Amino acid sequence: MKNKLIYTYRNIFHKKPDKLFSSPCRINLIGEHTDYNLGLALPAAISKYTSAVVGKRNDRKIYIRSLNKKDPYEVDLDNISKIPTYGWGNYPLGVFYTLKENGYKLPFGLNIIYGSNVPMASGLSSSASILNLTVYIASIMYGYNLDETTIANIAHESETKYNGLKCGILDEYAIALGKKDKCILLDCKSNKYSYESIDLKDYALVVIVSNVKRSLTVSPYNKRVEECQKALTILKGHYDIESLSDLKVSDLPNIKTLLNDEILFKRVRHIVTENQRVRDFIKASKEGDITTLANILNKSHESLKDDYEVSGEYLDYIHDISLKYGAIGERMTGAGFGGSSIALIKKIDFSYFKENLYKDYLEKYHIKAKIFPANICDGLKVKSL
Ligand code: ADP
Ligand code: MG
Repeated sequence: MKNKLIYTYRNIFHKKPDKLFSSPCRINLIGEHTDYNLGLALPAAISKYTSAVVGKRNDRKIYIRSLNKKDPYEVDLDNISKIPTYGWGNYPLGVFYTLKENGYKLPFGLNIIYGSNVPMASGLSSSASILNLTVYIASIMYGYNLDETTIANIAHESETKYNGLKCGILDEYAIALGKKDKCILLDCKSNKYSYESIDLKDYALVVIVSNVKRSLTVSPYNKRVEECQKALTILKGHYDIESLSDLKVSDLPNIKTLLNDEILFKRVRHIVTENQRVRDFIKASKEGDITTLANILNKSHESLKDDYEVSGEYLDYIHDISLKYGAIGERMTGAGFGGSSIALIKKIDFSYFKENLYKDYLEKYHIKAKIFPANICDGLKVKSL
């Protein structure tokens, strides 16, 4: 990727770029759709990267091109539209807009060439990857040297306000805080986090990309956010709570009566049980109990399928055949509606698992799944060229 980016930059600008930046993507082990409900999640950065080469300009223009997309964009820093009108460019350009909104001075223009091997719109958060990367680029190029959580917060503000997704902080934090071989236990109420070592013994996590494309902003993602808000408004009349994540599993029978609405109750049940699964997962991990870890993954998938209704046919099929081909635990990861899954399998069974799952899925849907080991890695990086 590095050479291709430098080659493209040289071809366009007839000089070499100043710096090379990279940002990983993420999986989420457990705690799905809990982030915007101010609950718990356990993500980790993984080693598929959005990279960029960057150079300073003498004017105030931002030029962006992506090797993954056709159209480049060139926009004056003083003139970035308040309304997103730039196709894929809404992601990076939204960051410059958000930085300006937050009072950061951006004294000169930049040339940025992006390139990525992160499967896009696949639930591994290519969006937070390019957003974090762009905040990081601005931070270094303009000399702000922002810390990881500030970078994540700006990227998150950009995704919610500029790109219109009512998402929580999970994706941006997971990527900015990425640490080799560590999962991040994230409390989305306080934004506090701790690094956790999850010892999987002779098992490993594998990522399965369904390659069913979806766009989150037009998917029912925002509808789920609204359903949770509706349930919260009702339940606030009965409980002293700030979010659905303040409720306990033992509250559920009473919540069912109070809501008197099957759909809203199922949404709440997912959030409440999913938060508990994060706690149980950490506990089982500390006890080295792989069977319980696997069961929690399976329970989470069932809850996302039946209660939250976000998995969909393809990810449900992948769940079933993963278990058939040796996974002991499997769940969709990320927001769902197509996207990706993670499976817990014995390391020595990886080739058998990959071959059979790939073949089976191809036969049924005529779609090539992407299957690779989840390699947990560090977050944002920069190198001078
Ligand atoms: P996810 O975050 O799960 O990959 P999203 O729908 O949230 O899916 O974000 C995907 C969008 O992010 C893409 O459609 C594209 O607009 C933008 N994007 C991500 N990575 C890149 C890239 N390398 N080049 C151009 N656009 C990108
Ligand atoms: Mg995204």
